[in-house]
Amino acid sequence: MICPKRTSELLDLHLAPFKDKDPAWEVGVSKIAGRGLMATRSIKRGEIIFKDMPLLISLSAHEEDSLNACSVCLRELPDTRFMCRIGCGLPVCSLCSKKKQHKTDCDLLKSWGPNEPEVANSVIIRLLCVARALNLNKDQRDLIYCLQANLDNNHRVEVRNAAKCFKNFPTDKKIFEIMNRTVAVLRTNGFDKTTDRTNDNQEFNYRALYPLFAVMNHDCIPNSYYTFEEKTNIMIVRAAVDIPEGFEITTTYTKLFTGNIARHLFLKIKRGFTCKCSRCSDPTEKGAYISGLYCRDTNCSGLVVPETTGLPHPSYNCLVCKQKSTHAQMMKSQDFASGAINAKANSNSLRTLVQYLNEKSDNFIPNSNYVVIDAKLSVLQRLGEGREDCSEELAANTRLRYSRDVIQVMDQLGLGESLVRTQLQDLLRREEERRAKRLAEEAEKQRKLAELQAKAAEADKLLAALEEAARAEEAAAAPPVAAPAPAPAPAATETA
Ligand SMILES: [Zn+2]
Ligand SMILES: [Zn+2]
Ligand SMILES: [Zn+2]
Ligand SMILES: [Zn+2]
Repeated sequence: MICPKRTSELLDLHLAPFKDKDPAWEVGVSKIAGRGLMATRSIKRGEIIFKDMPLLISLSAHEEDSLNACSVCLRELPDTRFMCRIGCGLPVCSLCSKKKQHKTDCDLLKSWGPNEPEVANSVIIRLLCVARALNLNKDQRDLIYCLQANLDNNHRVEVRNAAKCFKNFPTDKKIFEIMNRTVAVLRTNGFDKTTDRTNDNQEFNYRALYPLFAVMNHDCIPNSYYTFEEKTNIMIVRAAVDIPEGFEITTTYTKLFTGNIARHLFLKIKRGFTCKCSRCSDPTEKGAYISGLYCRDTNCSGLVVPETTGLPHPSYNCLVCKQKSTHAQMMKSQDFASGAINAKANSNSLRTLVQYLNEKSDNFIPNSNYVVIDAKLSVLQRLGEGREDCSEELAANTRLRYSRDVIQVMDQLGLGESLVRTQLQDLLRREEERRAKRLAEEAEKQRKLAELQAKAAEADKLLAALEEAARAEEAAAAPPVAAPAPAPAPAATETA
């Protein structure tokens, strides 16, 4: 383990622009793994614990990404023709092409002689984040070496492949070593692959290393959460729950709503460790049954959960009839449900998907299962984007119902504050306000109607009284009328 004291010194240098006089954290020995961040005092839910800035940041340039963004300001460019005219092989906007950062990047990459500098190449653009490590000062580079790195067989592939895109790529072993190490640190503790750059639904599209964040250990029920300042890419880490003094401050490397087995595999393969947190040690996941499936016995309505935790292929047990199932059998159910729900999600009709989730999917997959939760979150997101085929009433009811459902799961899991919770609570509040407003408007309409009816009745009464008075007046003004004379009897002769 690298000395916590040296790490702290280097972190202090890195964080100098934000230096907090009384930081709520310190680097210490962790019970989870190696070294971690400890609370130096009690921290209230929602309080900012620290701000971190990227030591390295650049475009992620994944194969699926479009390459039309500036390599300095990271802003989108109108197309991919904005390649540096000097021939370094990087896309850059005209403003940034004059900046010091590009001058440094440009000198480095130009000296390596890119094969086709005028064409945007994802391998070169992606390498930039790593190559920038070569231009860091000694303390900054030491800080990279202080961070955990999973030095598996694959971490050398990237630089080796990138070398083929240049005519004079350096052959110096030290340069290779620094870049390979940076790749490993980015993969272990940074924001790198699509799958691990999203924390509770927040997309982070860059490849970046936040050193203080990188020191935090993982827990599947993290007690902190993070957001980014849009313009500066500064990371803000807040307490998700009240954190007592001396407790470790944790984050999560996985999505919040992934089942035990999927999280286990992800952490094992991508991050190289087995999580032993309270959620991972509980097959029911705190009674939230996120990976729960239905019993294969059609006469039993019990939920089936893994028998033990921490295994990639566990056996399963029905909680009601105790029937055992194999991993393969239960994965078949899970895959069937995922396939069926995804097919509806891809059908373009949001109404079809909502109806399916409300009426059908519960027949073969419990509502607690993460596939259903994910589908509900995607419905909420699509409703937020508009242009969907849902009536206003269905949209309103769905927003209310699904955000309550997901918040309930979060509560069950013991998840505190997070970006997704804030978004759901906002949605719920807005929807409840809209509903209250609609009810108030309806009540006001009714009140006005009743008022008008009362006025009309009043007017009717007044009219009747006036008519009555008029008749009385008429009667008083007219001369006394004699009793009408009896009609003369018809002459008998006339009818004859
Ligand atoms: Zn720019
Ligand atoms: Zn250039
Ligand atoms: Zn865990
Ligand atoms: Zn059963």
